[in-house]
Amino acid sequence: MYLIGLTGGIASGKSTVAKRLASWGAVGIDADQLAREVVEPGTPALAAIVNEFGDDILLADGSLNRPALGAIIFTDPASRQLLNAITHPAVRQLTRARVAAAAAADPHAIVVYDVPLLAEAIAGGLVTFDLIVVVQADADTRIQRMVELRGLTLEEATHRISAQASDSERLALADVVIDNSGTLDATLAQVDALWERARTAESRKNA
Ligand code: ATP
Repeated sequence: MYLIGLTGGIASGKSTVAKRLASWGAVGIDADQLAREVVEPGTPALAAIVNEFGDDILLADGSLNRPALGAIIFTDPASRQLLNAITHPAVRQLTRARVAAAAAADPHAIVVYDVPLLAEAIAGGLVTFDLIVVVQADADTRIQRMVELRGLTLEEATHRISAQASDSERLALADVVIDNSGTLDATLAQVDALWERARTAESRKNA
């Protein structure tokens, strides 16, 4: 098993890169999706959240009202800590279980963990990455893509970028940088080279 940590700023092209790697056979694990899974109806984490924050935090169908919870933790750091204390261990456990399941299903799997907050995952010793890949596009390009392809206003897009870790903080972690400021084809060519590199490294690792 060979584990790639894939990160990048908002709208940098992480999903685009992850999708291409999956098309070659990589097993994708998406941190944002795991964070949603651990609070689905019926989970211990959702029960603990209701216990702390009350029934008002649920929608009529019993699922978590994310905007309502977001509004609470946005203004109250103590609530945010409480929430993190509930969700973070659950996400960590699920992440490790998914990586272990991928390795058990195929000992030669190349696993791509798509995680916006990679620095935190590394600092927390979540899993050991074989390779860290950072997808990079300049802020103006990302803002333009958010406005044109996702319908955000210029102000919203700019705000989302400025709320994140800086490019230099992310790039400091990178073993490989995928430059996604150009055409899609130029990016996919870099991803294909990355796939070959990972396959070679995986076969050496297990030789
Ligand atoms: P998020 O941070 O929101 O999860 P992301 O990093 O996964 O985003 P993508 O969804 O892959 O980024 O890309 C952002 C948007 O830009 C998408 O609409 C995607 O189709 C588009 N896009 C990605 N790469 C390119 C490219 N090289 N040229 C043009 N459009 C692109």
